[in-house]
Amino acid sequence: MTNNANENASATSRRRVAVLGGGISGLAAAWRLSKIAPELDVVLWEKTGRVGGVIGSKKIDGFHLEASVDNFITTVPWALDLCKELGFENELTSTNNRYRRTFVVRKRRLFPLPDGFMTMAPTKLYPMATTPLLSPFGKLRCALELILPRRRSQDEESIAAFVTRRLGREAFERLVEPLVGGIYGGDASRLSLQATLPRFAEMERKDRSLIWSMKKSQKKAKRVKREEESGARYSFFLTLNCGMEELPRRLAERLEAENRARVELNREAVRLEKAPDGGWLLTDSTGKTERFDAVLCATPSDAAGELFRSVAPITSEVCAQTERTGTAIVHLAFRNEQVKRPVAGMGFVVPPSEGNGLLAGSFSSFKYPSRAPEGTTLLRIFVGGARSPDSLTIPESELTARVLAETRALLGVEGEPLMTDVARFPNAMPQYYLGRLDAIRRLREELAATPTLALAGNALEGVGLPACVKSGNDAADKIAADLGFAVEKSGR
Ligand SMILES: Cc1cc2nc3c(=O)[nH]c(=O)nc-3n(C[C@H](O)[C@H](O)[C@H](O)COP(=O)(O)OP(=O)(O)OC[C@H]3O[C@@H](n4cnc5c(N)ncnc54)[C@H](O)[C@@H]3O)c2cc1C
Repeated sequence: MTNNANENASATSRRRVAVLGGGISGLAAAWRLSKIAPELDVVLWEKTGRVGGVIGSKKIDGFHLEASVDNFITTVPWALDLCKELGFENELTSTNNRYRRTFVVRKRRLFPLPDGFMTMAPTKLYPMATTPLLSPFGKLRCALELILPRRRSQDEESIAAFVTRRLGREAFERLVEPLVGGIYGGDASRLSLQATLPRFAEMERKDRSLIWSMKKSQKKAKRVKREEESGARYSFFLTLNCGMEELPRRLAERLEAENRARVELNREAVRLEKAPDGGWLLTDSTGKTERFDAVLCATPSDAAGELFRSVAPITSEVCAQTERTGTAIVHLAFRNEQVKRPVAGMGFVVPPSEGNGLLAGSFSSFKYPSRAPEGTTLLRIFVGGARSPDSLTIPESELTARVLAETRALLGVEGEPLMTDVARFPNAMPQYYLGRLDAIRRLREELAATPTLALAGNALEGVGLPACVKSGNDAADKIAADLGFAVEKSGR
């Protein structure tokens, strides 16, 4: 990779495209662009000295730690397709099916989430009827969901309002709020259902009852699975055995090695202006300006807000106003015998009412056994979000001590950890709060009317890795189409 490369732009007559940001969104965009339009001169500017953005893996004392992205979902194709394209088939690792359960903390104890409960809706009635997590009244209120009418208004609704309306306050507070907090770290009374988890709004619109709709789609999924004759089957979540960081690393390596794009590290874009000839002038933090025919911005939303200020004011305003929360991940490792009350599961989520500042935890050594040496337990605890923002600022030792104390209380851990590690991501999680749909619609309209300028990243339509890859693909398609290349829609 070239550091602060000074290649002379005029040395090439190829049209030049700048991709800003070397996280997964920017790398996926550069990759896609290089496939659709190999004749373009694609240059990726990354502000820091490494690619990957928030993605990072490390090995400490035989433990394999994932700083942020732990795995990705396979119900949508984009991340899985990219992994396959890059030759990661043999590295794809499914979650260990023996430990499929998720637990919920209630009064400092761990109880299994009712079997079949999927983010916001139960799919099995017996586990709901017998769960100790809900009172008899709470269970009856959930069952009422089957006969409640659908909402007439199509206006945006918060996740809290939607779930309370359909399943009752108890199910919201004890089941859904902790699950949503564990994924998004945001405030469910402000998160837009339609922008964050649109499929549930769609279920109500189409089928009225979530329970009924989930059961129906599960039956269909089973039928499809039976009908499929061959091909690799993957679990709901996959990870890369070699470490998630290998994905951006290999992408950057292949972009460079195959002359698809040039990756310039330590290159921060600070100003974007329209060039008099219709192209774009991009200035870096050293004051050097280059001309490009198109610009694809895949930086976090605050940087995009700054860059787009004079060239796309609506997009700039939407980006600048996107609220983001931060998350910290604390890894703790123990010998198995130190954990006196182990639970056999993937992990746990914590309702805000527990007041311990934790969002969620995952049992990495159960989920992916190769991540910890034999006889040891590796835990990955999430803190921060809207619930405990000070986790991002207090000294690491204080944060570790706080998380360790809560872990001792939950799992009966004794003695000192074999290893600890803290990774913090301030402002890394955009929150799709109420009003988001309209904001994104306005942003899209403006960008559609601004040829050769595109935006990708996790502030758009999904924070997960697959959604980021898709946002990169879509932005690349826009740029290629604007430059007159034929873009074949993948149809997915
Ligand atoms: C703690 C945590 C855990 C997560 N876990 C999962 C998970 O298990 N599964 C999952 O699917 N998703 C997960 N996510 C979400 C997912 O990782 C992110 O949404 C995704 O990686 C974001 O990628 P990105 O490229 O859009 O942004 P980033 O990774 O933020 O990359 C943006 C890049 O732009 C660069 N940049 C910034 N400003 C400039 C500039 N002016 N000029 C040039 N470059 C610039 C930055 O240095 C950075 O490298 C997690 C996120 C976090 C924070």
